[in-house]
Amino acid sequence: MRVAFMGLGIMGRAMALNLVKAGHEVSVWNRSAGKEVEGARSATSPADAARGTEVVWLCVSDTAAVEQVLFGPDGAEQSLAEGMVIADSSTISPAATRKFAERVAPKGVQYVDSPMTGSKVGAEAGTLLFIVGGDEQAIEKLKPLYAAMGKKIFRMGDTGKGQSAKLAMNLQIAMIYEGFAEGLTLAAKLGVEPSTLIPLINASMIKSGVVEYKAPFVLERDFTANFPLRLMRKDIRLALEAAKEARVKLPGLETVEEVYDVAVDEGYADLDFAATLMLLEKWAGVKVKGQAA
Ligand code: NAP
Repeated sequence: MRVAFMGLGIMGRAMALNLVKAGHEVSVWNRSAGKEVEGARSATSPADAARGTEVVWLCVSDTAAVEQVLFGPDGAEQSLAEGMVIADSSTISPAATRKFAERVAPKGVQYVDSPMTGSKVGAEAGTLLFIVGGDEQAIEKLKPLYAAMGKKIFRMGDTGKGQSAKLAMNLQIAMIYEGFAEGLTLAAKLGVEPSTLIPLINASMIKSGVVEYKAPFVLERDFTANFPLRLMRKDIRLALEAAKEARVKLPGLETVEEVYDVAVDEGYADLDFAATLMLLEKWAGVKVKGQAA
């Protein structure tokens, strides 16, 4: 298929490369110059990337970035034509997603929100899970592209529902990790090493994919970004915004948001969200010892 891919960050670059490897004809665009994908055409603007394609795929930071790429100067909107499909893998506001879809609908363009989970490792390996909202026929058209980048798609309902479900997922990732980090910090302060505690966690009902994925990084004290803390904070805020609109109270997440706010003030924005542990350590006056520590 002919695909325009916008946003070559941690996730997008690996995803676009997997589309090329699967034999699709890909044009790519990134806001800052210098990011390219071997085998893809580098476009000069979103409008240039989207011209003549069947699918416009986005993977950019946030709601404002999606709006800019689609509807800003030289935005993809200028090249939209009847029958095209927009797929957005950024994690953004469900309400804004519905507005964007309504704006392109009169052109005969369908909009499928396609946020994903699986982190950098999943993007590189082509094993992402896509959490999808949109028309079933449009999703059918996208299936070869999902197959090139991921291992499974879950349809949550109409356009916007993929983003709604994604926010509910990241709420849990943030809170499960917070529980893990607080547990490690308390245990360390009370004299129990993480290398002793983690096997117990993994043998018990606390075992989780989040702990399995993050524990090795924590033990290595490797806080380089797989999923940057600033983006998890964005998702926490999106979840709290959606909750407010729907009159849902999320007291745990409200507290976790404060942890992320302070972590950003501490200069951890571009580290992995796992770096929130360092803040807990600072407050507790203790360090969770890694393998090398
Ligand atoms: P990233 O590495 O920070 O990349 C962000 C991309 O968005 C970059 O290409 C950036 O361009 C572009 N961008 C930012 N603001 C823009 C604007 N105003 N106009 C145009 N482009 C703009 O982030 P990522 O980790 O790839 O994440 C991308 C999306 O996927 C986010 O919504 C994130 O929440 C979601 N996500 C991430 C993960 C993960 O584990 N990393 C997992 C699931 C979902 P520049 O290069 O110019 O900065």
